[in-house]
Formats: sequence, structure tokens, C-alpha cells
Amino acid sequence: MKKPAILIDLDRCVGCQSCTVVCKMENDVELGEFWTKVVHMGPYGKFPDLQMYFMPKLCQHCEEPSCVDVCPTGASFQREDGIVLIDHNKCIGCQFCVMACPYGVRHLDKRSGVVTKCTLCAHRIDAGEEPICVKSCQQRSRIFGDLDDPNSEISKKIQAAGDKVYTLTDTGNHPKVRYILQKADWKG
Ligand code: SF4
Ligand code: SF4
Repeated sequence: MKKPAILIDLDRCVGCQSCTVVCKMENDVELGEFWTKVVHMGPYGKFPDLQMYFMPKLCQHCEEPSCVDVCPTGASFQREDGIVLIDHNKCIGCQFCVMACPYGVRHLDKRSGVVTKCTLCAHRIDAGEEPICVKSCQQRSRIFGDLDDPNSEISKKIQAAGDKVYTLTDTGNHPKVRYILQKADWKG
């Protein structure tokens, strides 16, 4: 897979937080911290015309990750397939990357003194499996696949959704996680 990524269909997400929970279990995420969590967006508008939706947030595995640029030890790095990871043997816990990430998805693990975040379940991808958040989503809100393959499910869905496909605010990082929202206004 050349460019693994996740597409999140916000019209399908019901905010059940099962992705949040299974991610913590799969990746032994510290108590009180999250590698992915679902936030409530809205309500927007004026009663009775109100809109709201649920938006899962996670590392965007940016094409140009500022977290990698600022890391003084090379601990934060980008794999050839674009997944952004942290080599915990090289991390000195300076947290430059935490400050540099525009999406607030990194934190210092107080147990180990190193920074952690979503790995896109690289260990599962390398074993031919989907990320656990994708596998566990009962709504099929999350779709995992290769953005570089025009015949992949993720590419076809993005193409079909047209201008209803969004990324989080791009501050030059070029986030790779994509969102679809048809039924409400995008405020991400
Ligand atoms: Fe780095 Fe933040 Fe982008 Fe993830 S979302 S790759 S932590 S800058
Ligand atoms: Fe790199 Fe670790 Fe410092 Fe982050 S906290 S910039 S990963 S050394």
C-alpha cells in the first residue's frame, strides 16, 4: 500500500466512542489520554433549524508533518508510505513536537517520559490488517485504504463525495485523514 489513510464519513458516525475505547486497549494508551476521540460539533444555527454531528479526531499523518520537522533527535519520522511514527528509543521528551502539531494529537506519556500518538495501527497494517478503530466501527463510518489507488474503496468514496470531502484546517501540513459530511455544514 503506497499511501495508507483513513476516510471518516461523518454522516454515519453516531458518537458511540467505540473507536476511542478499542484504540486505548489495542495501544495501551495512558489513563486520561487518547490517541483518537470523538468530539461533538455544534449545535449550529438557530432553533428550530439546528445542526450537529460527531467528529473523530486523531493524528492526521500529515504529508508535511511539522512534528517531524522540529524533532531534534530524529525520533519523530515519516515512513516511506507516509505514516508518521515516533521512535521511543530516540525520544527525549522535549515536547517540541507537541507544540508544533496544529491538531493537538500528541501527548507526553507520563509513565515512560516519551511522546506518543496514533500510529495508524502501523503494526496491524504491516500484518495485513486494518487499524483497530476501522475494524471496530459498527457504523462503517471509518474506511481505511490506499489514497494512491484510484480503485480502492477510499478513493472511490472520495471521488463520489466530490466537494463534500474535507480535511482539518490546513496550515501547510497537508493532513491526510479525510472527512465526508453531506448533511450539515462543515465547521472543522
Ligand atoms: Fe504530526 Fe500532528 Fe500531523 Fe500527526 S497531525 S503528523 S502529530 S503534525
Ligand atoms: Fe522528538 Fe520526542 Fe522531542 Fe517530540 S518529544 S520532538 S518525538 S524528541
